[in-house]
This record gives sequence, C-alpha cells and structure tokens, in this order.
Amino acid sequence: MPTAYEKVAARIDGYRELIIDWQRRLTAIPALDPSSGGDGEAKKAALVLELLAQMGVKEVQVHKAPDGRVSSGHRPNIVARLPGADRKRTLWLMSHMDVVPAGELKNWTGDPWTVRVEGGKLIGRGVEDNQQGLVSSLCLARALLEEKLTPPFDLGLLFVADEETGNDLGIKWLLDNHAVFGKDDLIVVPDGGEPDGSMIEVAEKGILWVKVTVKGKQTHGSTPDRGINAHFAAAELVVRLADLYKRFDKRDPVFDPPTSTFEATKVEAGVPNVNTIPGEHTFYLDCRVMPSYGLDAVIAAIKESAAAVDKQRGTRTEVEPTQRMDAAPPTSPEAPVVLALKKAVKAVYRVEGKAMGIGGGTVAAQIRRKGYSAAVWSRMDETMHGPDEYCLLDNIVGDAKVFAHLLLA
Ligand SMILES: [Zn+2]
Repeated sequence: MPTAYEKVAARIDGYRELIIDWQRRLTAIPALDPSSGGDGEAKKAALVLELLAQMGVKEVQVHKAPDGRVSSGHRPNIVARLPGADRKRTLWLMSHMDVVPAGELKNWTGDPWTVRVEGGKLIGRGVEDNQQGLVSSLCLARALLEEKLTPPFDLGLLFVADEETGNDLGIKWLLDNHAVFGKDDLIVVPDGGEPDGSMIEVAEKGILWVKVTVKGKQTHGSTPDRGINAHFAAAELVVRLADLYKRFDKRDPVFDPPTSTFEATKVEAGVPNVNTIPGEHTFYLDCRVMPSYGLDAVIAAIKESAAAVDKQRGTRTEVEPTQRMDAAPPTSPEAPVVLALKKAVKAVYRVEGKAMGIGGGTVAAQIRRKGYSAAVWSRMDETMHGPDEYCLLDNIVGDAKVFAHLLLA
C-alpha cells in the first residue's frame, strides 16, 4: 500500500501540463504596485480564487487592505485552508501575488508577460518570484483534494499582496489586523533559495543605509588655505569607518558572510572641474548588521567618527540614515519547521538542508517580528527581478512534494 505522501507525490508528478497552464494565466496578469504604474493584485487574486474554487477548496477568505491608488480600492490578501484531522495546527505556505516590472524590454528575448517553455524552463516575469511558490502550493492542495485525503493537520495557503514594495498592505497589514497564525504552526515562505535546495533561510541581518555629507569650504585649487577640503575630510572619514568591522565584530557561522558588513558605496557627484577644492562631499554606507547589535549603536559609532574628523579638519558632517530595517529575531536552526524541512528536502531532493542567515530583506522578517518561527525555502536559480526570469518545472514539482512531505510524512 502506498503511503499518503506517496499517493500525493504521484499526483503531483502528473501536473506538469497543468503547471504550465497556471503559470501562463498568472503571468498574463501583471500584478504591479501603483508606484510602478500598476493596478495592484485584484485581477490576479480573482484568478487564484477561481483556481481554488475549481479544485474544491472551501475555506477561503479575502482580507482587503484599503488602497485608494488602485481601481478596486484594495489590495487582496487570500487565506485558504484545507481542514486536517487536528484543526489546531497548520502548515502555512505563503507566497505573494505581486511582481516587479519587466524592466528594459530589449534585455528580454521575448514578451515578459507571455510564458515561454524551453526544455524544462518556464520563462516570464513572475514565474519564479513568486509564482513558483504560489503554483507549487496550489499543486499540493489539488493533490490532497483529488486523493480525498484528510491531512493530519490543516494546510493553509496564504497569497499576499504588496511584497515587492514593503508589505505595508500585504503580510504586515494582515498580521496587524487579523489573527492568522497559531504558535505551533509551521510557516514556510517559498520565496528564495539555492539551485540545489540546500538553503533554509532562518535569520537576517539588520539593514542600514546611511548618507554622509561632509561640509567644508569651497575655494580655488591653488589656494587651499582659504577653504576646507571636504573631499579630503570625507576620505579620512571613510578610512576611519572601516573600523566599524572591528568595533562590531561578532561572528555567527549561520550567516554567509559570518560577520556584520560596513561598506562605503555610492558617491554623489561633486565639483565638476579639477581646479576647485570641493566644499561638500557626499557618500553612502551600506551596513548589514548582526541581529545581536542595535542599529542605533552603529549610527552612534558613525557619528562619533564623523565628529573626530570634524574636530581635526574644521568640517561639519551630517549623518543621515536613508533606509533602516532592524533585524527581526531569528528563527532557531532547531525550530520544528527547520527540522521538518531538512527531512523533507533530504527525502525529495537527496540534499542536506542547511539553516542559514542572509544579508537581509525577506518577507519572513515580518512574520518573525510577530513572534512566529518562519523559514524561507525553495529550490531555485534565483533569476528573480532580472530579464528572462525563469523557473524550472522540476523545481515546482519537487517543491510541491517537499510541502507534501512536511504535511504528511
Ligand atoms: Zn518574492
């Protein structure tokens, strides 16, 4: 007798044509944020609801985050459930419906909104980010219903809005306004991973972008005594700021790289000619900071270095954070969702899963901030946001089986 997992996995193997059809229909509806000239996710959500209804998912709710910028007046967040034997626990698979714009069309080899199938690859905007996760979770729901199987606990499918532009009308809004998760739930976000499927993302560094404007006094290149060279002062400050690596030097092997990073990046154009000593010099820092450090301490350290340079050179320096995302509390590498994923990834892909931290920026932080454990996992080449974005059909099928394993094995 085949096990429940084996039955469902065999069903999923038969869905390849269906997967291509779903991907085609989803990709043909560009769900773009109004800030990118789009009209939100309402039309795409209608298709997702249609697919859920067709396969017989009965418990479906749409939570509407109000947004006056789109024609529907809201951003839809869909919560669907398939009841299990134990209704007090849920395996959640969360994907987002919105996509990023196609970018320069000349960099694509075809129309971004028309899926092309080349060998085992599907090509189109959104096929990987995040329709791979969206479609693989639909596959699991359909297989369970076709097998008329009641899983040991609930399967929850979450299709959220507004992931690409900050989550304010997506998962963040949903968690602020509705009780969705329970404390024993397993929460998987299939929206990031490695080509071999080994990475289980559990932690993120804090992100801090800082604009540093050094002000001196402009003068002619031949008379430095009459001015204060802001470029020299800024250069000295940049060198001092490299010491942030020593000051915030905690290591954690979960992360790659295993330390905080503090990098001087962008420089704003200063004086256009060679024979002017600049009175102002502006540069930026990109800091990725271990969760155990507060970002305020990093900002204070930057200001301290700036004050030291100002004192020596007579400059005035402004330190201004332009982007800050404090790290969410990490998910433990021993959390049930991580251990279950390791087993499932091994069973389906024959790969050792590894709990890892990254430089920041996944939607799971929103969930972790509310006190729930969540793992970001999928098997993907990470072509997201680029031209000719693609996903592998094999990965959609395989990921759906990994989710089946989490629920049934
Ligand atoms: Zn995504």
